[in-house]
Amino acid sequence: MHRNCQRRKFHVGEIRNPLANSPSPTEIAPLLDEYAKHPPRPLTLSTLLSFGRPLTPESVLNSVGYVLSEVPRMFGWRVRALEELPFIVGMNPFIAKILAAHRRSFQLLATYPTVESLEDNVKFTTQLEALVQTHVNDIPIMAKGFQECSRYMTPEEISSFLDAAIRNRIAVRLLAEQHIALSRDLQDPDNRSKDHIGVVHMSCSPRDMIRMCGSFVSDLCEATLGASPEIIIDGQVDATFAYVPVHLEYILTEILKNAFRASVERHYKVHGSSSTHKIPPVRITIAPPPSPVPHPSVLSLRIRDEGGGVSPSNIPLIFSYSFTTAGPGNDEDELGGGPYAAQHVGGSAAIDHGPDGSGSSPGGSGNSPGLFGEIVGRGVQTGMGTIAGLGYGLPMSRLYAMYFGGSLDFLSLDGWGSDVFVKLRCLDDAGDVEI
Ligand code: ADP
Ligand code: MG
Repeated sequence: MHRNCQRRKFHVGEIRNPLANSPSPTEIAPLLDEYAKHPPRPLTLSTLLSFGRPLTPESVLNSVGYVLSEVPRMFGWRVRALEELPFIVGMNPFIAKILAAHRRSFQLLATYPTVESLEDNVKFTTQLEALVQTHVNDIPIMAKGFQECSRYMTPEEISSFLDAAIRNRIAVRLLAEQHIALSRDLQDPDNRSKDHIGVVHMSCSPRDMIRMCGSFVSDLCEATLGASPEIIIDGQVDATFAYVPVHLEYILTEILKNAFRASVERHYKVHGSSSTHKIPPVRITIAPPPSPVPHPSVLSLRIRDEGGGVSPSNIPLIFSYSFTTAGPGNDEDELGGGPYAAQHVGGSAAIDHGPDGSGSSPGGSGNSPGLFGEIVGRGVQTGMGTIAGLGYGLPMSRLYAMYFGGSLDFLSLDGWGSDVFVKLRCLDDAGDVEI
């Protein structure tokens, strides 16, 4: 089927409800077959940055071409992966909803008319933004679906499906948001940040990001658990590096929520509010790339808490989706306690509506999505978000860290505390890295 034969009028409101007007499987099957012939091209960082170096009308139109050739392919591959789930899992209303939304997004983009001018692009970016919004809750919805289907698939099957789905989603958002940011910068050069190329911040400061996320998590922790530890930042505190700030924000927020919760539960709940026992601080050490700068260059962070660590029996589980030691709260939509649900130790404090479209983040500021819409607070108990309970914080943070070739490792000193090592690839040095 030819693209232009598929032209259809598009209304932003139309895509708000992903189930409305979803194409039937037979309707898009030929188009899917066509797209399935070629897997999505590996996205390289140099490609991502090239559309903004330099930023010109041509580079923005090239970026549209790239988005319109790659993003439908990414959706198409996910449609196929969702269709290949066991029949009974596909029948689950949450999974069916995700499949319908993916079919719609695939069809919309695969049949989108060629964008030939900057005026066309203004319309396209508006629609792309709306489309990104329709997927904002995909991860918690899928989590709910897999929670209900946990008896039909092994935890490993669910994990590998979710890993691929989340990686795909990170790529879609990165490409879409990069295009949206570059289009905005071209339109509004006066407000363009000199040290950004689209969504990549060329001199992102981990210290500033720690402060921002720390202050948010601190308020959240105080509101939920009644106390919060201090944060000490040491090492090379002035280091900056090129990175996508919203990814760093996601990782830091999740790791800090865990460290804060563990510290407070161990030292505050045990000793009580009347005690003079001080909650030990969470210490974050920033290590810049060693000198001489190796290739690839990496910025490392160690987040250390004295929250008691993780018991050896739980260590193999902490990176599993849905593993949590936080107890269920009183919200009926509670997603915690999936296939691996552990003992309730968190009391009523421990709820987290999650990674993407749930949970909470400083940039996402409560109930509005952050730039990537990754974490949106529902404020069930505190009015500003929740601290734990979905069991997606660690696995998703690790996916984010690994996305550009970094890593996230967790070491527990059982009975004392935890160290999380986050290594992030500096993006200015990683032009040819496939992402
Ligand atoms: P959640 O925070 O929603 O429970 P996570 O994936 O963030 O999900 O963490 C999974 C589990 O790993 C937590 O419930 C907790 O048992 C354990 N954990 C994570 N970080 C820490 C930490 N710093 N100290 C102690 N336990 C931790
Ligand atoms: Mg967590």
